[in-house]
Amino acid sequence: MDYQKLERFFRSLDRAFFLDNEMKRYACLDEPLPIGFGQTISQPSLVLEMTRILSPEKDSKVLEIGTGSGFQTALLAKMSGEVYTIERIPELMEKAKTRLEKLNFSNIHYKVGDGSIGWQENAPYDRIMVTAAASVLPDELVSQLAGGGRMVIPVGPPELQELKLVVKNEEGKLDISSIELVRFVELKGPYGWTK
Ligand code: SAM
Repeated sequence: MDYQKLERFFRSLDRAFFLDNEMKRYACLDEPLPIGFGQTISQPSLVLEMTRILSPEKDSKVLEIGTGSGFQTALLAKMSGEVYTIERIPELMEKAKTRLEKLNFSNIHYKVGDGSIGWQENAPYDRIMVTAAASVLPDELVSQLAGGGRMVIPVGPPELQELKLVVKNEEGKLDISSIELVRFVELKGPYGWTK
């Protein structure tokens, strides 16, 4: 991955653009902020770090679970070939899509629904980014990850999770490492904590 390109784009992105009016004034804080519906835009430094760890290449096909504000989606779309992003809350997806279209991204595919079971029709994916806390590693996401692919996912209880990097080799063998402790909102659905 071209790290300099990632950093340049990250610095050029106006986080306020991804926030509702009353939150815009807090955009420069390196903190998660509310985006409505009990959800948050993640801390920018963590978004940048997770993108580095995921390490998408310019021709990568990326699946993102938890579109939220669309901020992380913008980084993924800038750094990869195609992005398939899933969000369960229609109102958040609508706003994220409007923002990302204003930024002229034409390589993003949007789906409203339960992303914990992936998006089978377009699998396999070279990279999978999950931005909500799963209770366990979802089987469907593991099976939709391509050989040679990487997945970044927070796994653990609602209070605190381990950020995991899952690397699948060409034979399908998994190497799973723990990067650091993080705190994300819950992933809903069969691999979440509540439905
Ligand atoms: N990356 C986002 C950003 O940059 O704004 C922040 C994502 S927020 C921490 C997590 C998002 O995951 C929320 O918008 C939430 O609605 C969504 N989510 C939770 N469970 C989901 C599921 N099963 N499928 C799809 N989206 C889900």
